[in-house]
Amino acid sequence: AKGDGRGRARLFEPAMEQQLVERRRLESELREALLRGQLELFYQPLVQVATRRIIGFEALMRWRHPGRGMVPPGEFIPAAEENGLIVQMGEWALLQACREAARWPDGLRVGVNLSPVQFRSKRLEAAVEAALAASGLEPGRLELEITESSVMHDPEATLALIGRFRAMGVRVAMDDFGTGHSSLAYLRHFPFDKVKLDMAFIREIEQPANLAIVRAVTGIAESMAIGTTAEGVETEAQFATIAREGCAEAQGYLFGAPCPAEAIPALLAGVNGI
Ligand code: C2E
Ligand code: CA
Ligand code: CA
Ligand code: CA
Repeated sequence: AKGDGRGRARLFEPAMEQQLVERRRLESELREALLRGQLELFYQPLVQVATRRIIGFEALMRWRHPGRGMVPPGEFIPAAEENGLIVQMGEWALLQACREAARWPDGLRVGVNLSPVQFRSKRLEAAVEAALAASGLEPGRLELEITESSVMHDPEATLALIGRFRAMGVRVAMDDFGTGHSSLAYLRHFPFDKVKLDMAFIREIEQPANLAIVRAVTGIAESMAIGTTAEGVETEAQFATIAREGCAEAQGYLFGAPCPAEAIPALLAGVNGI
């Protein structure tokens, strides 16, 4: 057994060391990305189901890496959460999204994703206030997207913070609803303005189990005057189903993939005629 252990250690040490080196490299690269303005926000349209008009955009982070091209958030946000850089990156995103949205017409909203790490940082409330003040964006046009793990960590503190956001006039959405351990009870206890149904349920919405979940969530949300957004709507068939089930808003490739800020005016002209 002793021999086994040593053998294992020899086998795994270099791999672990390499992982550590890789992680440190990513951290310093991310620091540089922040300093050198390599982070960007892409925007994906949010559509009102009844009219198919664009009512806002969700801001989604991208990293324009000098060597690797456009890197999607799944490849760097987990690392940024681990090393804490997500706090600064998230503050940058908040400010950038509010500045951008302040130039949009017709009171269009902007959704900004918040990491659970930001909730634990104690700087979040001040960051939201600062972004609103610096951009001049009407608070009601900002929609903070929070996930269940933000709520789970410290429900009481999160509840209080959500209350303060809403007192500022900022909207709060529960993101990825139904993917974790969230229960319908959350909707009763937390004062969300809306719930975003995860695309996992929309992809094969014709399956009875998925349909039942969508129906239950929209039903409860409606009874509590909470809005619903179906995420990941890719086909007209999916759209017809979520419309029938009473989802108020939709988001997905059917209406547009995330795009650079510069593409927004043309998109609005084409879809909303403004
Ligand atoms: P999310 O908040 O659930 O964002 C929706 C994701 O679904 C986006 O991926 C979007 O591009 C993708 N998507 C939208 N419509 C469709 C569709 O019709 N089909 C399919 N297959 N996918 C669709 P993206 O941009 O890669 O972002 C992934 C995740 O990274 C986000 O999931 C969010 O959790 C996180 N993220 C993105 N930006 C930020 C940010 O600024 N801060 C934080 N903390 N997290 C972010
Ligand atoms: Ca989101
Ligand atoms: Ca989501
Ligand atoms: Ca997600």
